[in-house]
Amino acid sequence: MIPYGRQTISEADIQAVADVLRSDFLTQGPAVPGFENSVVNYCGAQYALAVNSATSALHIACMALGVGKGDSVWTSPITFVASSNCALYCGASVDFVDIDPHTYNMSATCLADKLEQAEKTGCLPKVVIPVHLCGQSCDMEAIHRLSKQYGFKIIEDASHAIGGKYRGEPIGNGRYSDITVFSFHPVKIITAGEGGMVLTNDVQLAKRMKLLRSHGITSDAADMIPRPSEQLWFYQQIDLGFNYRMTDIHAALGL
Ligand SMILES: *Cc1c(COP(=O)(O)O)cnc(C)c1O
Repeated sequence: MIPYGRQTISEADIQAVADVLRSDFLTQGPAVPGFENSVVNYCGAQYALAVNSATSALHIACMALGVGKGDSVWTSPITFVASSNCALYCGASVDFVDIDPHTYNMSATCLADKLEQAEKTGCLPKVVIPVHLCGQSCDMEAIHRLSKQYGFKIIEDASHAIGGKYRGEPIGNGRYSDITVFSFHPVKIITAGEGGMVLTNDVQLAKRMKLLRSHGITSDAADMIPRPSEQLWFYQQIDLGFNYRMTDIHAALGL
């Protein structure tokens, strides 16, 4: 039988995970920011946040871009279910843009045609999620140009494309999108056991996704709702978020 996936784990990987197990922090320790920094530096983006899966990453990316009831999100029909489920989690509807038969990626020409039709009926998408299939980037410059023309946001589903390049630059640098998502499931390019990451160059999006990753709780006094008669709490829940954090055990393997 041909296995669905087969990961490569070195002795150094096992040592890195064992080191975390012997340390003070199994989660919310130094391995998570270490992994985030290494990916952000490698890709040349401004901000990266590690989460427990790419599915979670896609969910908080959609939320940060304000996807909600009545919105439409478009993606590729040749992808994993999570690329469309993230829109459904937010109460939005999903539609699909056909692929280019040469690359199997979302066709920028089909997207242009579909946008032209959608404009007539007032059903333009809020977000488009191109999927870089098997490491090959979509035509991001063309998709980005259309986003400016029609006013939608872009999440690159780069779940199988960390290490890939577009026009000589790393996928994930965010030159042509708002947010990029990576997966670290064992069948993807590199693995953390399970895990995902969001990358962005927008400080506000980064802040919002960071909040959503960890229960909507902040410990930054500037973001807290003032309570004049009380002392400021050490932390405050200011939004409804999730527990989508990556553990240090996973981050050490990823790193
Ligand atoms: C694997 C995959 C996902 C989901 O990744 P998980 O980390 O397993 O949640 C999303 N989109 C695409 C294109 C994928 O291949």
